[in-house]
Amino acid sequence: MSTNAAIATPNASGGIGVIRISGDDAISVADKVFRAISEKKLCDIKGYTALFGHIHENESAVDECVALVFRAPKSYTGEDVVELSCHGGLFVTQKVLRLVFAAGAVPAQPGEFTKRAFLNGKIDLAQAESVMNIISAHGQQALSAASNTLDGKLSEKIAGIAASLTNVAAGIAVWTDDPDEDVPQAHEENVYEVVKNALNELNKLIKNFDSGKAITQGVPTAICGHPNVGKSTLMNQLAGYDKSIVTDIAGTTRDVVEETVRLGDIVLHLADTAGIRESDDIVESIGIDRTMKKLDSASLVLAVFDSSQPLDSNDIDLLERCKGRKAVAIINKTDLGINTDVEKIREYISDTVMISAANGDGIEELKAIIEKLLGTAEFDTSAGILANERQYACCTSAAESLNEAITGLEIGVTLDAMNVSIDYAVEKLLELTGEKAREAVVNEVFSKFCVGK
Ligand code: GDP
Repeated sequence: MSTNAAIATPNASGGIGVIRISGDDAISVADKVFRAISEKKLCDIKGYTALFGHIHENESAVDECVALVFRAPKSYTGEDVVELSCHGGLFVTQKVLRLVFAAGAVPAQPGEFTKRAFLNGKIDLAQAESVMNIISAHGQQALSAASNTLDGKLSEKIAGIAASLTNVAAGIAVWTDDPDEDVPQAHEENVYEVVKNALNELNKLIKNFDSGKAITQGVPTAICGHPNVGKSTLMNQLAGYDKSIVTDIAGTTRDVVEETVRLGDIVLHLADTAGIRESDDIVESIGIDRTMKKLDSASLVLAVFDSSQPLDSNDIDLLERCKGRKAVAIINKTDLGINTDVEKIREYISDTVMISAANGDGIEELKAIIEKLLGTAEFDTSAGILANERQYACCTSAAESLNEAITGLEIGVTLDAMNVSIDYAVEKLLELTGEKAREAVVNEVFSKFCVGK
């Protein structure tokens, strides 16, 4: 494979910038641009060894550099790798990279280092994807979950489930060829038990992904309510700074203002919407229309009411729309007294909290209710979690197929016919770990990485 290079550190100024070179000629390429103070050559040193020196262009030194050598297969990519750590200026790192190209390396594609690690069997596809999740983790729980997946916890679990199903499928195939032979794996009770166990394990992963989503990916959340109830003030409380325009003129927030906030370990993608009320103002009407769309597509609704005002028809309309949804009724401005019909609100939304967005009262209670509603307390980071929608889709397809197999068993479908469902489930699990993923799937996974990863 070609020898590739890219800047592995962010495209910004910093203390150190790292240029990573990977491939058969990585060490000889680095030797062409790097001169150690000790005059040692990188090709003469062992793996996991560093030399201090300079990057050179012809006879002049460009920058100081520490060159760290990794020898195949003991490197991130599984190939020979050299990491050149220079000063982290945008110009200097680009300059060193150009010299490395001139010495024979070619530009690495997005995600290419991790892709090579995958192709060289250092990590599987699920682990590769967890690298991205580590980089994008917003909090401790998201980080622990991604680290456990990178450690292989998810892959081990999936491999274990796939192995038990493959064992049963092989038994059924043997028995189908020779029905007189006694094949214990193909006994109906055994098939049932193995498939049921596999299904339970997959369902646990699916459920954990759902409750972990709030932590790993964030929850689309709409803040809705009458104009002037304090939605923008609440959003600013949650976000920690003034993003929405707060005024006491009803209808100020005419469009949808979006913000990502972190409540403990939960990430909310908040949309502060135009208030819900009938309006003749065209601009405001468009805002209200968008509010309705946001409300319908949100996974969580924060419905805000003014505690000092009685409920009106617009409030009831909002309550109707929240029925059966994941929603919290937030009764705001409690510092002004309670003049609204709290019991009526509870008829529609059982999770209700009294706050004063202006002074922060009740915000902690609101956070606790959101955590409870999103089920994040049940999120188990130790098991390794499904990292993204691709893995989730593989898992749910496998689970559906196993459900079909169980139904088949219950209604007396022949074992060989049922084996089709088991085989399909195994195929989906191997696609998840990348053991049997199509090239297009692999390319799609790595295309989402950035250059240098
Ligand atoms: P929005 O139209 O729903 O986004 O409402 P705003 O956040 O713009 O707030 C409207 C007005 O209510 C502003 O003058 C806020 O300062 C005020 N307000 C918001 N929350 C509270 C609160 O908890 N108590 C009191 N007394 N006033 C509040």
